[in-house]
Amino acid sequence: MKSSADDLAVFTGIPAFGRQLHVGQPDVGSRGTLMRRIDGILDRHWLTNDGPCVRELEGRIADLLGVRHAIPLSSGTCALEIAVKALELRGEVILPSMTFVATAHALEWHGIVPVFCDIDPETHNLDPGRVEELITPRTTGIVGVHLWGRPCDVERLARVAARHKLRLLFDAAHAFRCSCKGRMIGNFGDLEVFSFHATKFFHTIEGGAVTTNDGELAERVRLMSNHGFVGYDAVGGLGINGKMNEISAAMGLTLCDDLERLVAANRRNYRQYKSLLEGLPGVAVAPYDETEQCNYQYVVLEIDERSAFITRDQLAGILWAENVLARRYFYPGCHRMQPYLSKYPDAAGRLPHTESLCRRVLCLPTGTSVGPEEIETIAGIIRIAVTDGRRLASRLPERLHSAGA
Ligand SMILES: *Cc1c(COP(=O)(O)O)cnc(C)c1O
Repeated sequence: MKSSADDLAVFTGIPAFGRQLHVGQPDVGSRGTLMRRIDGILDRHWLTNDGPCVRELEGRIADLLGVRHAIPLSSGTCALEIAVKALELRGEVILPSMTFVATAHALEWHGIVPVFCDIDPETHNLDPGRVEELITPRTTGIVGVHLWGRPCDVERLARVAARHKLRLLFDAAHAFRCSCKGRMIGNFGDLEVFSFHATKFFHTIEGGAVTTNDGELAERVRLMSNHGFVGYDAVGGLGINGKMNEISAAMGLTLCDDLERLVAANRRNYRQYKSLLEGLPGVAVAPYDETEQCNYQYVVLEIDERSAFITRDQLAGILWAENVLARRYFYPGCHRMQPYLSKYPDAAGRLPHTESLCRRVLCLPTGTSVGPEEIETIAGIIRIAVTDGRRLASRLPERLHSAGA
């Protein structure tokens, strides 16, 4: 535990941690179990194309989420792209800018205009009132993102979509094993999309899934993810290769066996951070609704630089100097990234809450690779930084001034 500002790396050059602490460090579950599954795959010489591990994972996901159809795919991004095609989105689609850029790319890639909509500063999710204001005759759909695994206002978004006859897709990349009013995410909208990328708390190395209770849409997603094949030598329509491979499914099955351990570690870390940081001036930990199922995979700080006497970027710089690689997700917002910045330069004007939140958020390392003592040290660094931050930040090496990019 650190006792004074002078212990900080920027003064001593001695990092607080002998290793780097990352956001989204993957857990690999039981190595023995994984290796046995991989041995089975190699013995069968059945490496992909709807193999037994993918089939089993499909069942596990559907059971866990209580959803009729779960289709494992090669990535969350590919799942988004297929969902966009399966829903026949075109023209304009409304989405938040406060998301990973893949949400926007999945639309722009298909020649759809992504119409960035502002968020509710409390929930960090799409503001349904703002969504309705952006609907034009060209609008065909809404993409909600359950940011940090905290559910969108699914009911109001569904009402807006129904009123205007729009498709409703959810990017649930963060929300695996989370619920909304007691119902598991994966059951809302027309389709929901998960990411099982290695940085997500449940992963298949690379992977993702589409879930739905609509049998017809599920069939369309299945066909599209396998080149449109409807039988041997028979192609029924446009498709792509979005299939999950067997080794990825084996990783997923192994982590499925261990899901509660992963959630427990995240929950413990979140609660510890929260109790240690609560009451610090200008620092808030974005809350999870603990009456719901949560995966607690992100510990999200909001830094109010007026009361913290330090900017979010200065705090990030101090943490990076200590080997704590906190991340500024999803700075600076999709609308400030290319090609969106050039193509839709007016978007920033209607996104005041997004612009402000992008400057406040900092995600801290969590997951099974971070323990209670490390969190105590990280919280200690943050405590010193927000109270004595201006002086410390002025001594940061130049390269750390915009850390966390
Ligand atoms: C991770 C992520 C994706 C992309 O998923 P991949 O599996 O990495 O392709 C999409 N949307 C959001 C919000 C994400 O965080």
